[in-house]
Amino acid sequence: MSELQKYNFDRIYGLIDLIEGNVNAETAFWNFSYDYFIEHSVKFQKETLLHQYIVITALNNYRRDFRKSTDWYEEEGALDFWYEKFQENNISIPKYKFKKGYDAYKWFLRHEKKFEQLYENLANDAFYILFNNRNFLLKFNKIVAESVSDLSSKYPKKDVTQKGTIKRKNIPTWVKNAVFHRDKGRCVFCNTDLTNLVNTLTVKNFDHIVPLDLYGANDPCNIQLSCEKCNKSKSNKEPDTSDKYYTWW
Ligand SMILES: [Zn+2]
Repeated sequence: MSELQKYNFDRIYGLIDLIEGNVNAETAFWNFSYDYFIEHSVKFQKETLLHQYIVITALNNYRRDFRKSTDWYEEEGALDFWYEKFQENNISIPKYKFKKGYDAYKWFLRHEKKFEQLYENLANDAFYILFNNRNFLLKFNKIVAESVSDLSSKYPKKDVTQKGTIKRKNIPTWVKNAVFHRDKGRCVFCNTDLTNLVNTLTVKNFDHIVPLDLYGANDPCNIQLSCEKCNKSKSNKEPDTSDKYYTWW
């Protein structure tokens, strides 16, 4: 049983906007840990590559803001916005004695670990929303595939094919359950009901959005539900998904 999480979505739309903007601009992973990326792309993990992307994108973005826009922070109280965010997330950060010409970039660098902790917290709420958006996931997984391809020589030999693509791994039940519920028990392409409540003959396929053969990853965000027919016709050619969804009523 997973735990209930506190509903805190009101304060993460800014973060989601930032992440979507970066994904739409095809901004690659940068300033990131190769080891973490490799480990989380060969085998399905609950901390997904999207969690990592959210954290590093936020950190890279705010590091740049603090570096370039130090004058924004030269007013008394200019950092209150950040103190509030840290407080909401129960992260303690010492108050500084404000003086004119204070170097906010130094302040950011000194507390960068705390910023990382803050965005690790917020990444869970942002993930909850973004995981539902398959069109976003398609674009995101194309970015992931670029990094898999770039890093392919750094992967342990046992995890990659001769071509350098990631080897197939069993998809854990917790991933299948989550994807089945997200995709409402239907093939994302042709809407065939795969719940087996009506038709017992349908077969569920858990399909890589960006195929492994095209440097896709074994990551929960790269899986979708499809019927056998659509899965076969897609067969490792083109990354694809559908942006159709059922309305609530
Ligand atoms: Zn289908």
